[in-house]
Amino acid sequence: MGEIKRVIIIGAGQAGGETAQRLRQAGFTGDITLIGEEPCPPYQRPPLSKAYLAGKVDMDRLLLRPANVYSEERIALLTSVKAVWIDRAGKKVRIEGGRELPYDALVLATGARPRKLPLVGADLEGVHLFRTAADIDAIRPRFVAGAKLIVIGAGYIGLEVAAVARQTGLDVTVIETAVRPLARVTSPEVAGFFLDEHTRQGVRFLLGGQPAVIKGKERVTGVGLADGGELPADIVVAGIGVTPETTLAQHCGLTIENGIVTDAQCRTSDPNIFAIGDCAARPMAHFDQRVCRLESVHNAVEGAKIVAGVLTGQSAHNVEAPWFWSDQYDLKLQIAGLFQGYDHVVFRGVMADRSFAAFYYKGEKLIAVDAVNRPGEYLGAKMLIQSGRTLPPDVITDETRPMKELVASAR
Ligand code: NAP
Repeated sequence: MGEIKRVIIIGAGQAGGETAQRLRQAGFTGDITLIGEEPCPPYQRPPLSKAYLAGKVDMDRLLLRPANVYSEERIALLTSVKAVWIDRAGKKVRIEGGRELPYDALVLATGARPRKLPLVGADLEGVHLFRTAADIDAIRPRFVAGAKLIVIGAGYIGLEVAAVARQTGLDVTVIETAVRPLARVTSPEVAGFFLDEHTRQGVRFLLGGQPAVIKGKERVTGVGLADGGELPADIVVAGIGVTPETTLAQHCGLTIENGIVTDAQCRTSDPNIFAIGDCAARPMAHFDQRVCRLESVHNAVEGAKIVAGVLTGQSAHNVEAPWFWSDQYDLKLQIAGLFQGYDHVVFRGVMADRSFAAFYYKGEKLIAVDAVNRPGEYLGAKMLIQSGRTLPPDVITDETRPMKELVASAR
């Protein structure tokens, strides 16, 4: 790469917004253009399915940084603007309307799109996807006590929405095609714990359920099932996963395989183009350089740090082990590491106390933790995973010894 005077970032979500900020923090003085399709400056998405849906915080509180900061830092923030073409040879991005913007380095932070329900009736009023603040604004007017809500999909979106809905007094049914909730993100044991909690809170589950049609004339009135049954609904929320937004990357011929493939420095198959966040897959330092696409705040921020470092010629920072969290009722689930590929799981604390940690092992190696209302166990396990250390299962589960002490003794 030659001298970098102009950086364009496509996608003004957490990954894109953080990249612009971190470039300035790292001393980059050239032009930064941040292009986003949404009408507002970059904001945090996690509260959307929690405090924002509950009406406890407004949009201003979600913004990553106050709106005026962008002009103060000479970051050209283009909102409600869609990038439509990348000319790799000419190093230009075309935006809707035909204007072309030249770049020396391009960062793709295009995120992911929620999957649409592949059902007749999915376009009816009252059927909602869940990704942007505008999506939640559209749900809220009818999200009131007594309304009948059907959530399709029992991932994080589904369960977090179900929790807020019960706390608001809605009547909630969750339909999930798999035989357990959270199948993609945790073990059967921890999934079973969350299933029990939600059931206790009054959520009905239809596991192994097959939604077949959304019923209604203009507005949704119910969900028809493959077995012929029908459930009444005033609102339907679909949380059935996302697909990485790779359209631009695909059109300009970058390598794609479940996301835009990059190296550890977030560089795509074009050395002048980087990809970060939900749309990208890169080798993970703590997991034998396995190429992963992670949908998380941690991954968005990590990508931004890496790219800002590379573009300003700074030495690599210490890469953090992946982490995630989910709030449901008074339960704070904190996750570190990646549990996929584990061969056994052990528990510290008991589920009945609603405060426990599940540690996942592959052979002797600790690879992940799910901690429920156990911040110490979460932090301790994260430190171990990050530093490549481990503790034997019978030691990590010994509640007579504080987690801190165990972590200090680990090798
Ligand atoms: P998700 O975690 O992929 O869960 C979607 C669930 O829906 C899966 O269990 C999936 O089962 C199921 N499903 C798929 N098609 C279905 C259908 N036609 N009918 C019924 N169930 C169906 O995705 P998500 O909950 O929609 O979340 C979207 C994104 O937001 C993810 O990136 C997620 O990580 C992120 N998010 C994160 C948090 C957090 O970290 N706390 C909170 C909210 C959202 P199969 O796997 O069998 O298809």
